[in-house]
Amino acid sequence: MKRNEIRLTDHFLLSEFEDKATGLVCIHPLLPLRLEQLRIRLGVPLRITSSCRTWPEHRRIYRQQYGERWAEEISLGSRHLLCGPDEEDFQKYPVLMERLGEMTYLPAKSNLTCCAADVRRPEEVSSRTFELVARSLFDFVKPYPWGLHVDLRHTPLDK
Ligand SMILES: [Zn+2]
Repeated sequence: MKRNEIRLTDHFLLSEFEDKATGLVCIHPLLPLRLEQLRIRLGVPLRITSSCRTWPEHRRIYRQQYGERWAEEISLGSRHLLCGPDEEDFQKYPVLMERLGEMTYLPAKSNLTCCAADVRRPEEVSSRTFELVARSLFDFVKPYPWGLHVDLRHTPLDK
């Protein structure tokens, strides 16, 4: 058996939510349940392209998109994150600390629970339908050319 090969719902495994670089995973318990509902309502398989992210994986994604400007563009309040920027990056990229000054989300917790997923739009589903159904299930939905970012940022997690 492979790590994180644990069935969470009829259609989703824990491994689909893990950080691609490390295999670490810590998710909001309702995330797979809402995705399962999305999958059932749409009636087609869904592919999660990114859910949990450690800082290096998050940085890799932004670096790929923005190159050397990644530190100015990277989302510091991302609900994908399991942890904040590492010390080395704070020292090398002072802009990160400047930007963090305006934020309250990251410094409050060093161990974060991921409540987000990026989901590729299935060919059979129109972008309008995809977004409409997702909005009925998630707190925050952001459309991209490839599909949707969804998260549960306003759904509290009992400790
Ligand atoms: Zn996302």
